[in-house]
Amino acid sequence: MRRVFGLPFPYLDTVGIGDGLGYNGQPWTDTTPLFDPGLSKQLTYQINIGDAAREDLTSKKLAAGCFVRDINGTVSDLLIHEMTHVWQYYTRGGITGRFSVWASSAVAPDSSYSPVPGGSWGSWDSLDVELQASIVEQWYHNGERKPDFWYPYIRLVLQSRGHALTYASGLTLNELNRDLASLRVRNVD
Ligand SMILES: [Zn+2]
Repeated sequence: MRRVFGLPFPYLDTVGIGDGLGYNGQPWTDTTPLFDPGLSKQLTYQINIGDAAREDLTSKKLAAGCFVRDINGTVSDLLIHEMTHVWQYYTRGGITGRFSVWASSAVAPDSSYSPVPGGSWGSWDSLDVELQASIVEQWYHNGERKPDFWYPYIRLVLQSRGHALTYASGLTLNELNRDLASLRVRNVD
């Protein structure tokens, strides 16, 4: 998890994993504080991933078959996708009320949220929550590589904190690439 999202990230014991599914048999994540008397901490986030909840969540096993509606990514791709939604809730802290973020898979051939690398891309803030989650999922699925097309979003937005996050999330992918190049000159990437 640290490799993808950096630190600090919500304590993992505030994230509950359940076997529920949302509309149309899709996984989903939301934030509704729950208190389980057996746990020392409140569960701030819930990830609902159907039968995949019974799998080893770090596995590269296909997640297909765990859902009413098949998803073609691996179980760990799905976890990274859903954890991106947790990241979204976390970094937007202060939002009141609840909203749900519906899951889809970046590697599903029929997915409308399959980001295609290439061309010019706007700022992270201009992308909807599903596109953001699918970009992180795709980067993870393809081996978490620095030469990856999406890496500037990962390195300079996802793994940024505070003011750095606010600044970087408003830059286009081209601008992020420029910033990344200057980090590399200074050997800090
Ligand atoms: Zn999603």
